[in-house]
Formats: sequence, C-alpha cells, structure tokens
Amino acid sequence: MRSDFSDTLFKIIDGRREELVELTRDLIRFPTVNPPGEAYQPCGEFIGRRLAARGFDIEFVRAQGTPGDSDRYPRINVIARRAGASAGPCVHFNSHIDVVQTGGGWTLDPFAGVVRDGKVFGRGASDMKGGLAASIIAVEALIDSGVELPGALEISGTVDEESGGYGGVHYLAERGWFSSPRVDHVIIPEPLNVDRVCIGHRGVWWAEIETHGRIAHGSMPFLGDCAVRHMNAVLDRFETDLLPRLAARHTDMPVVPSGARSSTLNINSIHGGQAEQQGGYPAPCVPDSCRMVIDRRLLIEESMEGVKGEVVDLLNRLVEERAGFSYSIRDIFEVIPTMADRDGPVARTTAAAIRRVIGRDPEIICSPGTYDQKHIDRVGKLKDCIAYGPGILDLAHQPDEYVSIDDMVTSAKVMALAAWALLHRIA
Ligand SMILES: [Zn+2]
Repeated sequence: MRSDFSDTLFKIIDGRREELVELTRDLIRFPTVNPPGEAYQPCGEFIGRRLAARGFDIEFVRAQGTPGDSDRYPRINVIARRAGASAGPCVHFNSHIDVVQTGGGWTLDPFAGVVRDGKVFGRGASDMKGGLAASIIAVEALIDSGVELPGALEISGTVDEESGGYGGVHYLAERGWFSSPRVDHVIIPEPLNVDRVCIGHRGVWWAEIETHGRIAHGSMPFLGDCAVRHMNAVLDRFETDLLPRLAARHTDMPVVPSGARSSTLNINSIHGGQAEQQGGYPAPCVPDSCRMVIDRRLLIEESMEGVKGEVVDLLNRLVEERAGFSYSIRDIFEVIPTMADRDGPVARTTAAAIRRVIGRDPEIICSPGTYDQKHIDRVGKLKDCIAYGPGILDLAHQPDEYVSIDDMVTSAKVMALAAWALLHRIA
C-alpha cells in the first residue's frame, strides 16, 4: 500500500513540474523586499486565493505595531488550514515570503522569474520562494491524490524573517498559531539542500561596545585620551585571549559547514572619532568615542549569560589594567540556540521520505545562522520542527540567486510523503 501510494504521489508531482515552475515565478514577481516590507499584502493574498481554491480556510493576520508595520507597509501574514476527514495531527509548512534587497551584480532581472538551464532565477528563488512553491505543490498533490487524510494540513506565508521574524512567526507564535493542540509538526522549507534535514541552529548575540576617551586638539594628543586606542586594546584581547578560547570550544550540534562547530565572533563594524569626510579636511581632534558592533554566534552547550559574561569580564580586566579605560556595552539582539530531537517524528519521517525519494541516507545538520525555528521552539513551545527544502544556502542573498527545478520537484515529493506519513502517524 505504502509504496503504491508513494508512486501515485510522485507521478502526480512529476506531472506538475511546469506548474511548480510557474508558481515559483509568480511568487518571485512579488518584490517582497525587506526592509521596508514591500508587497506583503498582494503576495499573501495570492497564496490565500490559491489555497482557498483547494478547500483551505484562509486567515490574514496583520502584526500590528511590530517593527516596520505601517499602513504603507503592513506586516500581513497568511495562514491556510485544511481539516482532514477525521481527527489526527496537524502538519504545518511555514515559509517566509520576505526577501532581502537585491544589491548589485545581477545579470538578469531579479523579479522577472527568469527560467534558464533547468533553474528559476530571482531574488528569493532559493531563499525561499522555491521552497514555498514546492510545499504548496506537495500539499495540493496529496489532496488531489484522493487518499483519505486525517488531521489537518496548514501552510503559512509569514513576513519579516530576514529582520528577526517579529512581525511574522514570532507574532503568530505569541498568539498560539504555532502551539499544540493547533499544530503538531512543522517543516520550514528553507534552502538547505534536498538531502539534508536541518534540526536547529546556533544562537546569536549582537552587542555594541563603546570605549570612551577625551577630546583634545590633534596637535597635542597627550592632552586628550584616544578612544580608538582603547578599542585597539579590546581588539588585542579578542585576538590573544577570546578568539582562541572560542575556537577551542566545540559543539555536538551537527552544524555545517564544520567551521561553525566552534563558537564564533565577527567584528561587524567599528566607528571611531569623526564621521567620514565627503570632502575637505577633517578637523584635528582626538577621538572621544569608538564603537564596535560584535556578532557572537553561540553553541547549544553555551548559555547566553556565560557568553555575555566572558566579554564583560575581559572589558572589566582592561578597566583594572589600562589607564583611562572605560567602556559601555549595549545589547542589540539575541537568540538562544535551538535544536529539535533528531529522533522526533518530523525529523525521522522526513529522513525516511528522503531515503524513499532520493535513495540515500540524509545528512542531519544544524544551521550556522538562525531562522524562524527559534520562535516556534521558544515562544510556541513546539519542539517538533525542522527545516527542509530545495535550494543551496550559499546562494541565498547573492546576485543571480536561483533554485534548481529538479531539486524543487524532489523536495515536493519528500514533503508530500513526509506529510502523509505524519498525518497517519507512520514514523
Ligand atoms: Zn530564509
């Protein structure tokens, strides 16, 4: 029964290859660039209209008052739910509809949905409109197969993932949209390759460190106190003390690439002294302020308190050891690491579906960066969540971003088969 049904399902999806391509192109044509949050409403309405025609109940939720929300750029999310023939679990596919700015270097129109060499090109093709389209085709194929489906299927198109998810999954999770008993299993079709199951991601701490100095005439720097030199002392401690310690710290999380299996710290930016000059000469001054933004990525074995504490300790040691050193530190953003159980229903079922469709064992991975799983885990309290979808993560946010059509078809089969098995509790 099972293999017969798989073949039926795969045949339906193969027959919809062109439809999958057209759907992806349609989604790419909405320039849902964030910031500012362009075209969210028409894109959400497009998804809603399509799924309403397949018997889904459609709800639009505006994340009123979240960052960036305005009447010009409303944060509109779409959630589609289709109840099955009998009681059972709910399988939810969540995709973000926002894309990052195009940037330079494109050789084709980023919002035209150009098809060439078996690929669909465009901003968001990989991250993650190709995955959204594949999940829609997967669910529609399941419905159209005529097989009885218990439980419920949900598809959401949410906003603002690229800016933290506060107007999207975070807002919905706070209001119960990603919690039991409404939802049991979540698959996020982020671009992590068709043969990999992503069970979680590292955490994040962004902070701004400022060193203070005293302004004076640049011809007599000994009368002032240079904030940039104080920041250099911070950087020196990072180089000689903190970075080696971070590099030596290893995680059991299966993060790819493997370089990200250690704690990492990026110096995001440094600004000291006067603002950059557009013309003319700068005034001769000793800088009284230098600011540095750090981007620290943490492992599941680390605590946020510990991560912040080791930076603060390092700065406090400089206060004691270095004449005139003073600093302030400001939190900008933080995310706790998250990791689902690799033997949980959604990971195990998706892995089995990959084996059936592709014929080899999937790789179980974690992402070096974050995505919306954190909100589903921490806010929605729903652990059974993974990311699985077509596309190559390295292409995300790049010029000439694309998704392979073969990969979209393959992942649609995996998603359809996994959803079917989860609905029937075949794990
Ligand atoms: Zn994404």
